[in-house]
Amino acid sequence: MTAIDAFDIVFFGGTGDLALRKLLPALYHQDQDGNLPSEGRVICLGRSPSDTAAYVDKAHVKAKEYLGSHYNESDWKKFAARIEYLKVDANTEADFVALAETLNKFPARERVFYLSTAPDFFAPIAKNLAAQGLNQGNSRVVLEKPLGHDLESSNKINDEVGEYFTEKQIYRIDHYLGKEPVLNLIALRFANTLLEPLWRREWIRDVQITVTEQVGVETRADFYDKTGALRDMVQNHLLQLLTIVAMEPPASIDADAVRDEKLKVLRALKPLSVDDVKTKVVRGQYRAGAVGGKPVVGYQDEPGVPAGSKAETFVALKAEIETWRWAGVPFFLRTGKRLGDRLAQIVINFREVPTSTFGKNTRPNRLVIELQPDESVRLYMMAKEPGKDRLREVYLDLDFKEAFSTRSPEAYERLLMDVIKGDLSLFVRRDEQRAAWRWVEPIIESWENSSEGPKTYTAGTWGPAASSALLSRDGLCWHEEA
Ligand code: NAP
Repeated sequence: MTAIDAFDIVFFGGTGDLALRKLLPALYHQDQDGNLPSEGRVICLGRSPSDTAAYVDKAHVKAKEYLGSHYNESDWKKFAARIEYLKVDANTEADFVALAETLNKFPARERVFYLSTAPDFFAPIAKNLAAQGLNQGNSRVVLEKPLGHDLESSNKINDEVGEYFTEKQIYRIDHYLGKEPVLNLIALRFANTLLEPLWRREWIRDVQITVTEQVGVETRADFYDKTGALRDMVQNHLLQLLTIVAMEPPASIDADAVRDEKLKVLRALKPLSVDDVKTKVVRGQYRAGAVGGKPVVGYQDEPGVPAGSKAETFVALKAEIETWRWAGVPFFLRTGKRLGDRLAQIVINFREVPTSTFGKNTRPNRLVIELQPDESVRLYMMAKEPGKDRLREVYLDLDFKEAFSTRSPEAYERLLMDVIKGDLSLFVRRDEQRAAWRWVEPIIESWENSSEGPKTYTAGTWGPAASSALLSRDGLCWHEEA
């Protein structure tokens, strides 16, 4: 662990769900593990005129609930002593004077401003921080998703924040990049020789990236109906995971070396025409069904969903990367709500054996990287069953729990520590974000101009039948159908 200097981290949106449920517990864990220097404040902001004691009480209740068996009274007290609460409205310049007074008690400290609010507040916050001279060289600003609704709005946010903070100070967070199996995939690919010769079109048949949820739109219909699965999940998380699978070995693990390689992948994605969108992209919307044995209503009957909504709660698509390494290898991406399982998984399907020495009793090898609910990396191979003349598929299991005694940190722990240390490697650079928006824009346009709506699927299934057909046209099937 690199030693870190004294710091102040400021959470805009400190009273919100993300801060209370994820960000504070993540910092608590890092404090508990002894990774935070003794000099470091956690300054939480909200619009209510509360005081620190009342805020800490509220944070305590949430943290205890979230931390479960990791909660420890004395560790919490030690951590809670770092917390200060301040009332700051993003649009009220005078509130930033009080924030400046608090921060300027320790002018030399590293400063992190974590903007865990709706993106509409990013520009006023950046402007008001600058007005108080708080965007110094050692300050960093973290931007939560969603970073815009399309290319134009994301450019606008980036331009506005960029007026006050340089690109090197801006940390665009994608928490999937902080997940341990994703970091392990990078290590597996670039710290071993074994996979590299196989990691190409000659040996890989297809790649499948799936992030599914069992929950529906819950209380977020207002936000979700305007956003949909493509903007909420594909443009950011799924394309970022794709870049990690597909990038060339970076010259070093330095932030820009890694991000340069990821950008090349995004730029090499084969553009989709309107006709391509019809055949290579499936959009779906859930209707009533049962999830985990419980009946659930369809999207159209969820509270707050406008009648006749065409918002997609499911997307499956086929992406192609036009490089020598990947030409001809389909990358299938899939995400959705109210599906059969909660899952985040990357599956690398290798090609069939070239001759069938064992007849039809073999299956192609697969590397399965599971990000949630469990974290694992498994290489499926064929082996002979002891005492029998038949083959069975078994897996080599990179069981991190067994190999390492240390706790596997949550993604936000890793990412928060990276911001405090000033390491940008796992944060999305502006040009990456622009390239990702550029690639999804034709899909958005095509859907907006289409008279057809999304295909419906029964809640609790794996999405519309067209999703399976997307792969079966190439003689393939989704991992769970194999
Ligand atoms: P939330 O529960 O609705 O909280 C919103 C926060 O924004 C509150 O702390 C609220 O403070 C603050 N806020 C609202 N108006 C403000 C203003 N004018 N000035 C300053 N602060 C203001 O939202 P959330 O779930 O925490 O999410 C925050 C952001 O992270 C959103 O953009 C969301 O899309 C993103 N995100 C959330 C999650 C998650 O798991 N929750 C995951 C990924 C990304 P008050 O107490 O004053 O209302």
